[in-house]
Amino acid sequence: MRYLTVVLLSLMTFFSTAQKKFDHKMKLMGSSFTITVVAENQQEADKHIKVAVEEIKRIENLISSWKETSETSRINKNAGIKPIRVSKELFSLIERCQTISRITNGAFDISFASIDHIWNFDGSMKTMPDSSVVEQSVRNINYRNILLDKKKRTVFLKHEGMKIGFGAIGKGYAADKAKSRLQKTGSRAGIINASGDLTTWGRQPSGKKWTVGITNPLNKNRVFSWFPVDDRAVVTSGDYEQFVELNGTKYSHIIDPRTGYPAHGLASVTVFAPKAELADALATSIFVMGADAGINMVDQIKHVDCVIVDKNGNILKSKNIQLNTINNEEN
Ligand code: ADP
Ligand code: MG
Repeated sequence: MRYLTVVLLSLMTFFSTAQKKFDHKMKLMGSSFTITVVAENQQEADKHIKVAVEEIKRIENLISSWKETSETSRINKNAGIKPIRVSKELFSLIERCQTISRITNGAFDISFASIDHIWNFDGSMKTMPDSSVVEQSVRNINYRNILLDKKKRTVFLKHEGMKIGFGAIGKGYAADKAKSRLQKTGSRAGIINASGDLTTWGRQPSGKKWTVGITNPLNKNRVFSWFPVDDRAVVTSGDYEQFVELNGTKYSHIIDPRTGYPAHGLASVTVFAPKAELADALATSIFVMGADAGINMVDQIKHVDCVIVDKNGNILKSKNIQLNTINNEEN
């Protein structure tokens, strides 16, 4: 009897603290987000999910260039007119974007958006844009003409026609911020997954590390490698969700700031980094830089790794990555 009581008691303790995984999928920032949290019950999970959703919406309102009222829109509307004072948060995000532009030699450039009225990646474009129009607009892409005044905390786009956009870094930034809000409000483990751009914290309910499968964009049903991700971010760029096909060539929605045309040498770039923001920005950059220059850069940055699939299906990787080709069933 005593033995039975002990067993029952331990079972009760086990069930009352048993952790489960809860997923919540929804559209945010124009993309599909899946928020996964480990919690004791649905009620606790809902509490965490609400915090994450609020944080992501807050960031969208701050950085979106589509929202008329955002700080970003005010900067864009005043291009060539006057500097705009912004929040500390947006100012430091733009400062970090500028650092990434310098590291990547301008492959990453938030002023790419100066040309976004020319390209349309929803499938509606049928012909190449006029080259003279591209040439005209590409002149407006230059991160050096995004003038930051740290003391006044203002941002000024030097020329009329310039525009900035955070499409290449915003989802990563939002994922990081949602993660850190959740950790502060007591969430033990989870994943913020913004259409494949993801960051994790803690472990699965089983105690195992979270794992991420990398698929070959040329053969979407096949995962070619699984990676454990422990408190890390994994971001993939150019997975062909948005592209335009012109004269038999597929162009991604990533613009080469040097030419004003979409970059088209690689099929996908996956970057692993401590922060999703950095991983997001670098994945986009490498897409423009190409495999050799991209891998060379990644090999010089601590705690950052990458896996690239080129147009011929070749898999290339930075020096610290071990590919463990496992078949699909294992995970
Ligand atoms: P996804 O949104 O599919 O994850 P990316 O993170 O690579 O893809 O971001 C692509 C987006 O980044 C484009 O839709 C555009 O908004 C923006 N962008 C395109 N080219 C550049 C560039 N050279 N530098 C910075 N941002 C870019
Ligand atoms: Mg990106």
